[in-house]
Amino acid sequence: MLLVASERQVCVTDECCVQLVAIADLPSRFGEFQIAGFVSPCDGKEHTAIIKGDIVGKEGVVTRVHSECLTGDVMGSQRCDCRDQLLESLKIIEKGGEGALLYLRQEGRNIGLTEKIKAYALQDQGLDTIDANIHLGYKPDERDYGIAANILKNLQVKSIKLLTNNPEKIRQLSDAGITIVERLPLIVEPTQYSKAYIETKARRSGHLFGEFADTHDIDEIQSINPDELS
Ligand SMILES: [Zn+2]
Repeated sequence: MLLVASERQVCVTDECCVQLVAIADLPSRFGEFQIAGFVSPCDGKEHTAIIKGDIVGKEGVVTRVHSECLTGDVMGSQRCDCRDQLLESLKIIEKGGEGALLYLRQEGRNIGLTEKIKAYALQDQGLDTIDANIHLGYKPDERDYGIAANILKNLQVKSIKLLTNNPEKIRQLSDAGITIVERLPLIVEPTQYSKAYIETKARRSGHLFGEFADTHDIDEIQSINPDELS
C-alpha cells in the first residue's frame, strides 16, 4: 500500500507537529519515486520526503535524512560533500527498491544561506567550518532532527536503516523515538576543496570515518567515546 495524503497525521495538541500536506508521483533521473510535502509549524518551513516503493508499516526502511545545501546540492559546490551524499543516497534507495530521503530545509547546518556564505568567507581567511560558525555566534551545528522524526512517523515506517556518517543524527533520532536498526555508511571521495571540511567533520564533530567508517552497529556507534575519534 502506498502512502496517500489522506493518511496525514492530525495535530491534536499545540505541540510541534509536522503535517503531511500532499503526495504526488515523482519520476526522476534516478527512478520512479513519490514526493511528499510537509509543513512544519515548528520552524515555519516546508520539508519534503522522496519515497521509493511501499514503506508503510515496514521495518528497516533505508532512509537518508538530508539537510538542504543550495550551494552543494544545486550549484555543485565542491566545498562540501552534500551533493555527492544526496545523489549516492538516491542511487542506493533506487537500487534497493524501497526507502525514503527526507530533505530538510536546514540550510547551512540551519544557520541559513547568507550566514553560510559569511562562514565560507571566514573559512577563506583560514577558520575551519566549526570555528567559522562559532565566530558568527552560532553553535557548530544548529540542526534539529526532531522534525525528521516527526516526518518519519507521518510516513508510518516502523524502523529504519539510516544512511549517515553523523552519530549526532543517530542520537537525536533515537531520542525522538525512531528505531534505527542499522547505520549504513555513506562514503564519498573528497575533492581537493572538500578534503579539509570532511576532515574537520571527522576530527571535531565525531563523524564516522577512519576506524569507524564501516561500523554498522547502532549500539557500538552510540558507545563510542568522542575522544576516540580525534
Ligand atoms: Zn553542503
